[in-house]
Amino acid sequence: MPKILLAQAAETLTRRLDQLARVSDERGETTRTFMSPAMGRANALVGRWMRAAGLRVHEDRVGNVIGRLGGAGPRAKTFLLGSHLDTVRDAGRFDGALGVLLPIAALEVVRDLGIGLPFNVEIVGFSEEEGVRFSSAYLGSKGYAGRLTRSDLGLRDPSGVSVGEALARHNGRRLPPPRAAHSPDELIGYLEVHIEQGPVLESRGLPSGVVSAISGQTRARVVFEGSAGHAGTTPMALRRDALACAAEFILAVEAIAKSRPPLVATVGWIRALPGATNVIAGTAELSLDVRHPLDARRRSAVADLRSIAQKIARGRGARFSVKAAQDNPAVTCSSDLTALLARSVRACQGRSLALPSGAGHDAVIMSSLTPVAMLFVRCRKGLSHHPDEFVHPRDLEAALGIVVDFLTRMAYRL
Ligand SMILES: [Zn+2]
Repeated sequence: MPKILLAQAAETLTRRLDQLARVSDERGETTRTFMSPAMGRANALVGRWMRAAGLRVHEDRVGNVIGRLGGAGPRAKTFLLGSHLDTVRDAGRFDGALGVLLPIAALEVVRDLGIGLPFNVEIVGFSEEEGVRFSSAYLGSKGYAGRLTRSDLGLRDPSGVSVGEALARHNGRRLPPPRAAHSPDELIGYLEVHIEQGPVLESRGLPSGVVSAISGQTRARVVFEGSAGHAGTTPMALRRDALACAAEFILAVEAIAKSRPPLVATVGWIRALPGATNVIAGTAELSLDVRHPLDARRRSAVADLRSIAQKIARGRGARFSVKAAQDNPAVTCSSDLTALLARSVRACQGRSLALPSGAGHDAVIMSSLTPVAMLFVRCRKGLSHHPDEFVHPRDLEAALGIVVDFLTRMAYRL
């Protein structure tokens, strides 16, 4: 692959990422939420870049911008690439946008190399993934994959507007939940390029890595109930201190996760009641977040933590209860697409690392429609959801080279 071509395409990609970051609902920062004015401007801008790359562009009923490179023949299937164009508040330049703009640049390189792809390509900029406006994520990919439900349409934003009303405004009339953009037998698969949002690639000195699975997640609310008492007059032996139970439990959560990689488990929130300096805590409530790429391992960790909590409570004369708030299964990436992607990664950077994704992505929803693969790109200090989010231009060029190589391999394989 001519180096100069790739370097020029990477420069264009950097420029476009900068330009898109300036498309915002708030002055001086990058904020784009579902169906906001800035999302409309972002779709128009990305649509222009898609057209320049030779794609036919349209916006669907949920505000996804879709660019299609057709013409591979009447029986040719379609390969999908994409990510989301919405952002968190005061976001960085790369989360989401990279997975839309990098494939556009890759198709421009493929075109300039004179490679004809024997399949159609669709690049999708999803309208919603971050869950900022409606506190519910994946509205864009759910719409594309035909997974948007009536209860999704009934969700309301803080000003009382529902998803259905926002869509009616967008489409000029009320419509039922859209059907999937494709039937599964029209599709080859879906590739999402995304910043890692974690420190693993940086610690291994690798520009890119291949995602093996998107971890499943359990979220629960744990409560210890002892009895409140006077901090001065209750002897230590007669106490039933709920906060001491919680302290022991938090350390157990950390120890279990450390002993079972790649399990991660976190207590990120705690409340002690009545919550006074001179009162023994009668109640302690805490959050629990447990993630693992294998569902069976995650569930057994949760079960073990539950019995540890029971033991801690019993030992201190307290009661324990747990309420699961969320139980999302893991998504395994396609072994076939992932193996091919790993070959491209090895060809471009010498070594390929498989790593699980601890965070959710559009690929979670897309996996209900077609096999999925994900390429992670190193970001500085693993930082994301922050204006200082940074990917080195050299790493952008490397990731671009990997996707061009991957599309070329797919072209010769079919
Ligand atoms: Zn993202």
